Amino acid sequence: MNKQITLLPGDGIGSEVISSAVQVLQVVADEYKHTFNFQIEDIGGTAIEKHGTPLPEKTSAVCKSSDAVLLGAVGGPKWDNNPSHLRPEKGLLQIRKELGLFANLRPVKGFPSLLHASPLKEEVVNGSDLLIVRELTGGIYFGTPSQRNHEGNSAVDTLYYTKQEIERIVDKAFQCARERRKHLTSVDKANVLESSKLWREVVEAKKVNYPDVKVEHLLVDAAAMKLITNPSQFDVIVTENMFGDILSDEASVLTGSLGMLPSASLREDGFGLYEPVHGSAPDIAGKGVANPLAMILSAAMMLRYSFGLEEEACLIEAAVEHVLKEGYSTGDLQMQKGTKVNTDEMTAQVVSYITSESAAHSILSCYA
Ligand code: NAD
Repeated sequence: MNKQITLLPGDGIGSEVISSAVQVLQVVADEYKHTFNFQIEDIGGTAIEKHGTPLPEKTSAVCKSSDAVLLGAVGGPKWDNNPSHLRPEKGLLQIRKELGLFANLRPVKGFPSLLHASPLKEEVVNGSDLLIVRELTGGIYFGTPSQRNHEGNSAVDTLYYTKQEIERIVDKAFQCARERRKHLTSVDKANVLESSKLWREVVEAKKVNYPDVKVEHLLVDAAAMKLITNPSQFDVIVTENMFGDILSDEASVLTGSLGMLPSASLREDGFGLYEPVHGSAPDIAGKGVANPLAMILSAAMMLRYSFGLEEEACLIEAAVEHVLKEGYSTGDLQMQKGTKVNTDEMTAQVVSYITSESAAHSILSCYA
């Protein structure tokens, strides 16, 4: 397989973790005789410094002509006081919109060796393995009007969804549930919001096409509570943009560190942008100590969702699980024992497992 991948390192630790993902992808390419070609482009604060805009036209054009995009992170205190059109996050929102990435997938898995690192009790986190499917290009973050009145003493935002926008994200979630444990929880606020009533109707209408998937509806307030009291009850959660934003950050505590959470933002044809959930971590940027695992797991998602390379994705995930089990951890992971490593050393451990004899057994267990 020959693929063109755009790399958008962005700001802070972005370039450090992107470099780790590239090393892992190179070794997977060697093992499986694929060719991955990488092209680096600017986004975020780095792009503002170099080009005066958080999303240069060339970056958009290169992303659009590639097979997938890997993004590090954007933002940092240097640009915090910039006007809104010169904020690094603007570049990220714009590229998601331009690429039509309507489906945000965030898997949240409690790795056994990290259970104790979660602020929740081990017995609560144990067995949690869920996927949040969040609508990404509609809802209250994009609806108009979104403005202050003339005097500045009142404000309005608009929560707007079309049936078609809901249908495509709900279909995506049903498809994901089919590939997993076949249980879909749709989260809304249908007791109050008209947009949620439409959401629920669409889910009810769609479920006849997926008779093998069990469907339940939960109000967002109940979902927020259950996510931290009984997370293992969930398989796939589908929800609108703002609810998904909040619930996925809440769910991140299950893993014990932001540095463990990957994400994919997808279009209908499978094209995607893959990025860790964490930000640019300015407090540790340039020190070489960032946890690269969320970025590496994002690269695994790219192989699975955009390139259909399930075995290769599985192998990377098994390698991450293995290095944690062996006791390797970066500073953000509160491991009780084991070996503290920096970004390069952690990456080297993942690479070393992928090329090892034991890797083949992990692939078999992926399909077990
Ligand atoms: P952050 O995720 O950057 O950092 C929060 C804390 O987690 C920090 O202590 C950081 O050191 C730690 N951390 C994060 N990722 C880590 C990793 N891989 N390894 C080890 N430790 C890690 O969130 P923040 O501090 O709220 O935001 C910093 C900047 O990042 C802001 O400008 C914010 O707007 C931006 N941001 C960007 C994205 C994105 O690009 N998608 C997401 C969130 C925040």
